[in-house]
Amino acid sequence: MSMQKVVKLPKRTMASISPFTGELLREFEQHSDEVLEQKLQLAAERFRVYRDVPFAERARMMTSAAEILESEKNTFGVLMTREMGKTLRSAVQEAEKSAFGCRYYAENAERFLANEEAKTSAMHSFVRYQPIGPVLAVMPWNFPFWQVFRFAAPALMAGNVGLLKHASNVPQCALAIEDIFRRAGFPEGVFQTLLIGSDRVNRVIADPRVAAVTLTGSVGAGSSVAATAGKEIKKTVLELGGSDPFIVMPSADLDRAVTTAVQARVINNGQSCIAAKRFIVDDKIYDSFTRKFVENMAALKVGDPMDPVTDVGPLATQDVLRGLEEQVNQTVQMGAKVLLGGKKLDRPGNFFAPTVLANIPKGSPAIDDELFGPVASIFRVKSMEDAINIANDSKFGLGACAWTNDQAEQELFIHRIESGLAFINAMVASDPRIPFGGVKQSGYGRELSHFGIREFVNTKTVSIQNAATEKPSKTE
Ligand code: NAP
Repeated sequence: MSMQKVVKLPKRTMASISPFTGELLREFEQHSDEVLEQKLQLAAERFRVYRDVPFAERARMMTSAAEILESEKNTFGVLMTREMGKTLRSAVQEAEKSAFGCRYYAENAERFLANEEAKTSAMHSFVRYQPIGPVLAVMPWNFPFWQVFRFAAPALMAGNVGLLKHASNVPQCALAIEDIFRRAGFPEGVFQTLLIGSDRVNRVIADPRVAAVTLTGSVGAGSSVAATAGKEIKKTVLELGGSDPFIVMPSADLDRAVTTAVQARVINNGQSCIAAKRFIVDDKIYDSFTRKFVENMAALKVGDPMDPVTDVGPLATQDVLRGLEEQVNQTVQMGAKVLLGGKKLDRPGNFFAPTVLANIPKGSPAIDDELFGPVASIFRVKSMEDAINIANDSKFGLGACAWTNDQAEQELFIHRIESGLAFINAMVASDPRIPFGGVKQSGYGRELSHFGIREFVNTKTVSIQNAATEKPSKTE
């Protein structure tokens, strides 16, 4: 089957640029249309063979991928840090977490996809989960390994083959991941990186050899991908942005809440979909929370992400820095009070000062949009109910956490918060053992746990009648 005829795009390059120095690290030419065609064809052909590889064999290769990640975690950590600026400590942890994800699915995939018996009037009814084909993964730069592995480990263990279109600023990570799967023993074509820009994603989705698509990224990108996939009747999973609330009530352990609040805001230099972004604090403890929070944010060490003492490194790209600066300026112009920071740092690299904003006006970017950087917005409320109303007054619904030891408040929060993840007395985090995903404009579908592996499978209903004795069912 050949690809649809498309207009030839000019040759373009993808650049790896250091967020710390601005230095051009490496340049890659985008794949030509011919190379893209070969890769799609290889994916389709490989799937026809790979789908029948037994679970035990897939698990052996996935475990080998985990071993590579573990034994070379420092090398991969340096690669991530140099390419997108996260601290080396967190980058090494990311390689470890990716290995954990691979092991989790190596050990559990067969069980998650085992036949499910159902009692009906037929002699034998059951569900069989089967792979669906090549799945395109459009991925972001912020967790350049973990985001990819949390898609790839379940997808490959289910018998699908993966096509990765990674963010354009992390081509080295994208190629390193492809290499990990190759070295782990997965046959050529089971996992391929496509070096293409976002303007070529729609044609890949529309290609008949591609079965489905998952995107982790911004709302705009998700909407565009879902529109194309919808037109083609292809399944999508969308993991989009967030503006997670962090609610603190009087019964909370204030010191732990403050320490975690800072961590939850500046994780990954503030560039995490599930970073806490809006801190919603009860009036009774607002002043003491805010004082301690500002003190702790001010004490953060900003600098070289390779340096082990650094808490906050540079933002990934100049565009991210520019976007954040505009959002903060606009929020302040509309009347917000700057308690700390508020501007980019006067030094080389994409640095923005750890920032705390209060008295946030309605309609400002700090309420309406996602602030992707070390900028916290604080809100004062009178009760848990009030806090939940403010938390829910957002187009996003990814994660949320509440700090309270009052059981009635905990229950109210769990019941009423509009989010895919609700944590109590802890910061929101992803874990392969529990599902991950959002509601509202944070997306749909779930990754991780058994929910994640069942997103890209054919849930095939099988019903077997004994022709001699069974009467046909009267209902459809
Ligand atoms: P982004 O600009 O949306 O890019 C994400 C990916 O989508 C990249 O590979 C990008 O390719 C591609 N892309 C962008 N526009 C596209 C379009 N119109 N059609 C097809 N593909 C398109 O997001 P980002 O700046 O990399 O990442 C930050 C966002 O991701 C934040 O909103 C964050 O909250 C979200 N995120 C969500 C989760 C989650 O699990 N919910 C996790 C991590 C991040 P190019 O790089 O080539 O443009």
